[in-house]
Amino acid sequence: MRGEEGRNGVVVMGPIGVDLDNTIVCYDDGFYRTAMELGLVGPDVGRGKKAIRDAIREIPNGEIEWQKLQAEIYGPRMDQAQMIDGVERFCRECVRRSLRIHIISHKTEFAHYDPTRTNLRTAAMNWMDTHGFFASDGFGLQRDSVFFESTREAKIERIRSLRCSHFIDDLEETFLEETFPNEVHRILFDPYGHYGPRPGMTVCSSWGEITHHLFDDAS
Ligand SMILES: [Mg+2]
Repeated sequence: MRGEEGRNGVVVMGPIGVDLDNTIVCYDDGFYRTAMELGLVGPDVGRGKKAIRDAIREIPNGEIEWQKLQAEIYGPRMDQAQMIDGVERFCRECVRRSLRIHIISHKTEFAHYDPTRTNLRTAAMNWMDTHGFFASDGFGLQRDSVFFESTREAKIERIRSLRCSHFIDDLEETFLEETFPNEVHRILFDPYGHYGPRPGMTVCSSWGEITHHLFDDAS
């Protein structure tokens, strides 16, 4: 286990903070299928959110179309999203070690371009519910361990106030903010290998790797 070495050599760790979108939840299939359905991309577009975003931004009104697509995926179609491999095992490892997990997500209540006015935070909570996050034999999470913040700054403030020892996020930008607390270990989840090695961050391409990094006797 890697953490701060406390008194008597006891390793002090946790709580662990985790981002939600594209860190725990995978929207890749939804982005692909919906973008195809709406005729925004052709079948030869690459997989993954970034490839689809880049292709849509090329078309006229691309930025708006991209925002509309995101509104659809994170709102009315949230139930089609998948849990990323290895998340469940990681959570169970945390339960076994009595480590708390906090999910801290930058998510507004409503998307600007969603005509259905779906509450995005409610959709995310429902998704976690359906996937067993709050079940008593599930992932050891309580509903009050989930925090939605309206801005990136508020998200970082939450990471600080909850005194997370580690934070796991798919976006480098979170860690590059000047206000990001120095004492929090930064784990960048990078399943597509977009990032090379980053100073001050641990880059992991899978949840198996994250679990191994944190609990090196676990895998
Ligand atoms: Mg994210």
